[in-house]
Amino acid sequence: MNFCPTCGAKLGSKMDGGRDRPACLVDGCGFVFYGSHSIGCGGVVIRDNKALLIQRGINPNRGAWQIPGGYVEAGEEILPAVEREVLEEAGIVAKVKDVVGIRHATAAPNSNVYVVFRLEPVSGEPRFDGDETIGAGYFTWEEIENMEGVQGFSLWSIRRALDTPEGAGFMLHESDMTRQRPGWTLFGIKEGDHRA
Ligand SMILES: [Zn+2]
Repeated sequence: MNFCPTCGAKLGSKMDGGRDRPACLVDGCGFVFYGSHSIGCGGVVIRDNKALLIQRGINPNRGAWQIPGGYVEAGEEILPAVEREVLEEAGIVAKVKDVVGIRHATAAPNSNVYVVFRLEPVSGEPRFDGDETIGAGYFTWEEIENMEGVQGFSLWSIRRALDTPEGAGFMLHESDMTRQRPGWTLFGIKEGDHRA
């Protein structure tokens, strides 16, 4: 990165957090380049003990089955993002309940943090658009185990959601530090709320 994405000036470098980083030296700008990271989100939607899967219509991995998901857009909060992806990709209106798992993929030069949520379906039947998605449906664990081309992390996430009582893992709370960090915060089980 050679130019500041905030003000357009040529970047210099600055010692920050123990290493030199590309940084904008223009007074009052303050941009520092910490690397290229993205945030993804995926949704495990369970209805009648069946999990929602979509079949990819585009490469990479056209034809593979996976839970619905995608990227969190800049300025978008992660909860509306995963609910949007589930609706866009599978036609299901669903509400986030809790967090199933988190994956950090560190393929250079980009890294991606992907958060999988459990969602409760509210309305809608699975549908696909024939372009980005070429299949969608609710499937039992036995069916999923015997399907070809189910993405590994989706399998892990569905199994984990089926094995974990709702609310037994991470819970979501509206941030109580809204002035510094608006949005949502992930906490473990609250004290006095331990489950056997
Ligand atoms: Zn700048």
